[in-house]
Amino acid sequence: MLILVLNCGSSSIKADLVDHHTAQVHTKLRVQRVGDVERCSLTRGEETRTLGQAGENHAKALEAVLPELLESLGENEAVAGVGHRVVHGGDVFTESVRIDDDVEETLTSLIPLAPLHNPANLAGIRTARSLLPDVPHVAVFDTAFHSTMPRRARSYALPKELAEKHGLRRYGFHGTSHHYVAARAARHLEADLRELRLITCHLGNGASMAAVEYGRSIDTTMGMTPLEGLVMGTRSGDVDPGLLAHLQRVEGLDADALDHLLNKESGLKGLSGLGNDLRDIEAAASEGNEAAQLAIHVYTHRIRKYVGAFAALMGGVDAIVFTAGVGENSALIRRRVCQNLSFLGARLDEEANRTVALESLDDVAQISTGTSRCHLLAIKTNEEFAIAQDTAALVSEADRVNEPTTIPVAVSARHAHFDRATLDALFGEGYELAERAPLSQPGQYASEETVTLIGPKRSLEGVRILGPLRGKNQIEISRTDEFFLGLDAPVRGSGDVKNSPGVTVVGPKGRVELDEGLICAWRHIHMTPDDAEHFGVKNRDVVEVAIDSDGRDLIFGDVLVRVSAKYALEMHIDTDEANAAEISRGVDGILVDTTSCARVLKRSTKYDATTG
Ligand code: ADP
Repeated sequence: MLILVLNCGSSSIKADLVDHHTAQVHTKLRVQRVGDVERCSLTRGEETRTLGQAGENHAKALEAVLPELLESLGENEAVAGVGHRVVHGGDVFTESVRIDDDVEETLTSLIPLAPLHNPANLAGIRTARSLLPDVPHVAVFDTAFHSTMPRRARSYALPKELAEKHGLRRYGFHGTSHHYVAARAARHLEADLRELRLITCHLGNGASMAAVEYGRSIDTTMGMTPLEGLVMGTRSGDVDPGLLAHLQRVEGLDADALDHLLNKESGLKGLSGLGNDLRDIEAAASEGNEAAQLAIHVYTHRIRKYVGAFAALMGGVDAIVFTAGVGENSALIRRRVCQNLSFLGARLDEEANRTVALESLDDVAQISTGTSRCHLLAIKTNEEFAIAQDTAALVSEADRVNEPTTIPVAVSARHAHFDRATLDALFGEGYELAERAPLSQPGQYASEETVTLIGPKRSLEGVRILGPLRGKNQIEISRTDEFFLGLDAPVRGSGDVKNSPGVTVVGPKGRVELDEGLICAWRHIHMTPDDAEHFGVKNRDVVEVAIDSDGRDLIFGDVLVRVSAKYALEMHIDTDEANAAEISRGVDGILVDTTSCARVLKRSTKYDATTG
């Protein structure tokens, strides 16, 4: 499959036609300094030709040059899909996604999180979709791989409300590259990625590291923006946040000036005074330039500091991987980072390090000694290939694009369904429930009204009533609630209350002794017949569902499938089950296969019924 990989940066456009299988690049298009004096070139094989002037912004430039790239296609060649590199997926996108109008709209809403990058990415998406309307377009996010970071790693210690209001949290970037080289390292070591603890160092002009524990990113050096963490070409990386306020006071810098200072004038450039290219700095340092020497020291000190930090987080390291411009090419930086890491079991092979030559795209160089317990590797990254592969995978599923591949999980707190007679007895003759919030299942709602349950041991107040009224009373509580009340309720599917225990219910106007109706809800999935066909299940099947939570991953067995055209796709679990998986509000997960036929995972967790 030929995939067009489009990377619209803040001032550049890179478009590569990539074979998703062989990684071979068919044609390359480069536009540098969009909106300035454009420099456009098209490379096919050995031949590069300069293109004429493109337009003054990303859209105009793409409109001008993309047709030229498409003309390079032979008679039997066609673009099967377009993979767009998107810098920031926010909380919303935790994996690559087919682009439609809704996705485009959501991406627009994420612009405040990445004001420099996402507008250019979006301009590329809009223009490419209009130029290639019949081809599937896929967004691949720099942030997605890090969406597995636990809350403790992704949270800033800021006031909760403020952080939630503005999405102030650590997202991490370069995810496509970290994931790619981590997988490549595992293949080289003939190991399963899920059994390795890796530290991946993507050291390019922008630079970041990731702690990849058993295949999942558990921490990374970049944060809410790509400014946090390592010293980079022109970015400062970590500084004392107090320094920003200080600079505002003593230099009168405003937000834009600070942004410019820390993003464009700092890092290796700021330290050395020689620009951002490490090759120049290494050359100057070897000639005795002290500023250049200091720049290298600060640069490598920061990387070593994070190696130690990430090793501590994972309780050890199986391999440290170097990649991108500096990581692949600078023997000096790799040597400085790897000095005295024998406490981690890492021993550098000096000769192997000096002679690394990563030529082919699939190249891996082992730079640790044969006795080194922790492997040291230099690996050529290939983000375009990784994007092409992700895109091809989603293109292959093109005919299933409108079908769900994940199942949202809702957590049901204890609640009650009543018949007319019971509601009358509790709230007065002819009482009508007041709707408080609609539930995901069509026509269902949580009402304003709550009741108290009285058991042999204790009482539970504030048990929410769900509407509309039903033909039979049914009260759903958790196992913990049962112990609390002192009652033994069976696990039952909804509607199956025969021979279940009763309970005393108290409302504002009366008290009812129910003979039966108290159950512990059998965890279940509501789905439509179409969903059932998609997942390969039928009504009353019992399946397994893997929950990949922030806290504790869990596979729920014994999950009942309920199929009806009236349902909306959703899995319902109770609060005990949610607590066991440490599921919290609004957390996303990753799709996995389970041993049963359902491929299921929570997507956007939300609370369905809440106690008062
Ligand atoms: P980007 O983040 O722009 O994709 P790259 O991964 O291409 O960056 O890395 C570019 C950086 O790699 C350059 O700024 C340069 O400093 C560094 N680099 C490339 N080759 C060498 C080398 N042989 N020695 C030292 N540094 C190098």
